[in-house]
Formats: sequence, structure tokens, C-alpha cells
Amino acid sequence: MAGRIRAATFPVLKDFDTFDFTATPTLPKQKVLELARGEWLEQHFNCCLLGASGTGKTHVASALGLALCRLGKRVRFVTAAKLVTQLEAAQQQQRLDRLLFQLDRADLLIVDELGYLSFSRAGAELLFQVFADRYERRSLLITSNLPFGEWASLFPGERMTGALLDRLTHRCHIFEMNGESYRFRESMKARKDKDPKKGK
Ligand code: ADP
Ligand code: MG
Repeated sequence: MAGRIRAATFPVLKDFDTFDFTATPTLPKQKVLELARGEWLEQHFNCCLLGASGTGKTHVASALGLALCRLGKRVRFVTAAKLVTQLEAAQQQQRLDRLLFQLDRADLLIVDELGYLSFSRAGAELLFQVFADRYERRSLLITSNLPFGEWASLFPGERMTGALLDRLTHRCHIFEMNGESYRFRESMKARKDKDPKKGK
């Protein structure tokens, strides 16, 4: 199990025990904990966590991934930017097939932070290929700061965006994590604690 967790390459090992669901009222706790039991992977469902920066998307994605590793699933966590860089490098070095095969082995591919960067046409096409290959075969978990309506700004061409969203969201658990940034709130609280006169 430790090997599986290492192989998943989580950015941080965050679990649900440190996640405060009351701080993200739009996120249904029971439903998320149900996803931690992993049945959706067998049904080849996807999951999207959408919301502004600091609303806990990476935390929840990691906690879900960790829970699924513990159930024996093969998970791989990568940011969208890193995945595209890896795909482009593999293509240049004639080892794209090998990378695609490795990605395909994961029961769940978590692609974090889609939306902070747009991609070149070649990069977008490679990412599209990964997403399309998994369609109805293997699960994807995507986090994005952009609502679906703005994804066209990431991928060159409306057709590609439409086709991608179509496959991604066909059988998909979608959560909107909107609320105040937890990071921001914590830093405000820390400042208030230091100086009780401020911010009251
Ligand atoms: P995002 O990926 O949406 O930008 P993160 O998951 O990185 O946000 O969250 C930012 C920081 O705030 C992290 O340290 C995370 O653990 C913490 N955090 C966010 N939401 C919560 C929450 N509801 N309960 C506990 N910690 C949270
Ligand atoms: Mg994040």
C-alpha cells in the first residue's frame, strides 16, 4: 500500500480527517465520502471539482486518491501543466506510447489545476487523447478553477473543447466548491489572532 501511495505522486498527503466540510458548504460530505469507497471507478465514472483558488480542490482530490490507494486502486496524481509537459517530451523522444500505457494502467488519473494555463495545439491534442482514451474505460478526476463554460479558452478550437467536455461529463460526479478561499480565511484568522484589535 505504501508503494501504491508513493507511485501516485500526491503533492501532499492530505486526508479527510483534516478537511472541514463546514467550510465548503456547497460540497456534500456524504456524497464525497461515498466516492472514497471507490465504486465509481468500477463504473468508469469521472469526477470534476470546480471552484476558485483555495477552496480545497487539491485537498479533496488528494484525500480521495489516498482513500482509493488504500482500497488497492492504482492512482496517479499530476497537474495538467506537468502532464502536458510530460506528454510533449515523450512525443519528442519517441516514447509517447510507453507514457500513454503507463497512464492507462491507473484506475484513477487525477489531473489537478486545469485552467491556470492554456495549451498549445499540440499539447491540447495530447491531453485530449489521454482524456478520450479513458472514456468509459477508466476514471478521471479533474480539478479546475474555471467553470465548464470557460474551458474553450484552454483548448484551441470550440470543437475540441465540446468533444472533450462531452466525454468528460457524460458519466461524471461534478462538485462546485465555491466559497471563500480557505487559505485566505486562515491567513486572516492568523492575523486577527496576532493582533486582536485588527479586523474585528
Ligand atoms: P485549491 O486546490 O482549491 O486551490 P487547496 O486544496 O490547495 O485549494 O487548499 C488550500 C489550503 O487550504 C490547503 O492547505 C488545504 O489543506 C486547506 N483547505 C482548503 N479547504 C479546506 C477545508 N475545508 N478544511 C481544511 N483545510 C482546507
Ligand atoms: Mg489546488
